Amino acid sequence: MKNQLFIQDRSSEDLLLPDQKTKVAVAMGDGIGPEIMEATLKILEAVQAPIEAEFVKLGEQLYRAGNTAGIDPEAWDIIRRNKILLKAPITTPQGKGYKSLNVTLRKSLGLFANVRPCKSFHPFIATKHPKLDVVIIRENEEDLYAGIEHRQTQDVVQCLKLITRPGCERIIRYAFEYARVYERKKVTCMVKDNIMKLTDGLFHQVFKEIGKEYPSIEQEVQIIDIGTAKLADSPENYDVVVTSNLYGDIISDVVAQITGSVGLAGSANIGTDCAMFEAIHGSAPDIAGKNIANPSGLINAATMMLMHIGEMEKAQIIQNALLKTIEDGIHTGDIYDEKVSRRKVNTEEFTAAVIERLGQEPQELEAVSYTGEKEQILIPSYERKKQEKSLMGVDVFIDWEGTDPDVIGTRLQEAAGRIMQLKMITNRGVKVFPNGLPETFCTDHWRCRFISSEAKLVNGKADYLPVYYESVVALLSELHAKGFDVIKTENLYSFDGKRQFSLGQGE
Ligand code: NAD
Repeated sequence: MKNQLFIQDRSSEDLLLPDQKTKVAVAMGDGIGPEIMEATLKILEAVQAPIEAEFVKLGEQLYRAGNTAGIDPEAWDIIRRNKILLKAPITTPQGKGYKSLNVTLRKSLGLFANVRPCKSFHPFIATKHPKLDVVIIRENEEDLYAGIEHRQTQDVVQCLKLITRPGCERIIRYAFEYARVYERKKVTCMVKDNIMKLTDGLFHQVFKEIGKEYPSIEQEVQIIDIGTAKLADSPENYDVVVTSNLYGDIISDVVAQITGSVGLAGSANIGTDCAMFEAIHGSAPDIAGKNIANPSGLINAATMMLMHIGEMEKAQIIQNALLKTIEDGIHTGDIYDEKVSRRKVNTEEFTAAVIERLGQEPQELEAVSYTGEKEQILIPSYERKKQEKSLMGVDVFIDWEGTDPDVIGTRLQEAAGRIMQLKMITNRGVKVFPNGLPETFCTDHWRCRFISSEAKLVNGKADYLPVYYESVVALLSELHAKGFDVIKTENLYSFDGKRQFSLGQGE
């Protein structure tokens, strides 16, 4: 297994004297959380890892006490002071008003990179993919997970997909640096830019730009749908995969599952100041309190944490003991298979077996070696390049319960008068005016594109010309006065003379 180390920029004050311990915030979690965290802490203690746990209360107990965020100011202080959080899974209560604590922690602490190494333990854990050894690097803060959602009409709700250039630069640079430091051969970028040309197109564009700085690393770009299918079918063809938040969320579970069990993988959430380490699975309330959960995912997360703080040797000892335990056929119920397993054990017995094997190495599974030079992954700060921005029109979204696009189109043209001209109307992205098809299904959500009244419009086609913001304001005021229910607007911009908004399908 390659050396998987996660090192960030740490200032000289952070460097420890030999007998000093690194303070780590520890959250025991909900459901099976306390059982697997106890197991993990016992192993850290047995290996004499130089860490000191400072416990924080998070999750269910706070949610139940009416704290909808699941975290209080005291816990924030402890996490921010220690900069490292080892966290067992948290239960997010069902129902409105409760925020996912995981998303809150990732976004509030700026943990932009979610790093999830997945590797098969063939032949000791059943998998169809014995050679699987993939690291998924998922953008952790942006995309549809910005959580900006609105209901706009009777029929329509929306969620904003936000992709930023600094966000893309950070995660893509991190993926290439990770590949360089851990001697990985290839980075695959997964996007859907055949459809989302601006958002996913930006991710793809930044991948191409930054990739040029890493000529010795093989690079490829795949469309997420076929990419996921190929990844699930032949994961041995992949090495490091970098992608945006939602796609990364899905493919990282797919890859973890096909290694044999989601109970095995750990993940690191890395930011420039703080880092959080956790198992990838949830709090498994169905088996909570039964002493049967597999603690391997959290143990793997804890070894990643040790590497992060430079405790390479301790991480190596734990990892090899874990591999040896698995190789010896000592398996918890989730991975027990009578063909290969030798003993079905509970959480405590599994933990004792790992502790017994500290200092041993697996014979058939590849032992890990984390003795390489400690190298930092540094992400340069973002530099915004100045571009010329021009207003070229406006999309006005209108709530209208009629069904005939020609009716609203004609009324809008009249209402706009000479202020601006209506270029087209789309419904769910499909052009329905002028010259729409009667077969197109229309909801009550109409996107009406207005452009400069100076532009020559022939059969719905026209060049975009600059418009004044005052014209947009005047148009909105006129539409409101004429009884249109304007639900939102999106200004149409060009940057450095290039159109930066999508055309309607059929425009
Ligand atoms: P889950 O991962 O908790 O459970 C899915 C299935 O996998 C269950 O059958 C469970 O018994 C099994 N399983 C999970 N971990 C296991 C382990 N270590 N050993 C043996 N079996 C294991 O997913 P879920 O049921 O969808 O979610 C339960 C709760 O966890 C929800 O409240 C959810 O919000 C939360 N959750 C938290 C995190 C996190 O804290 N990072 C992540 C995912 C889900």
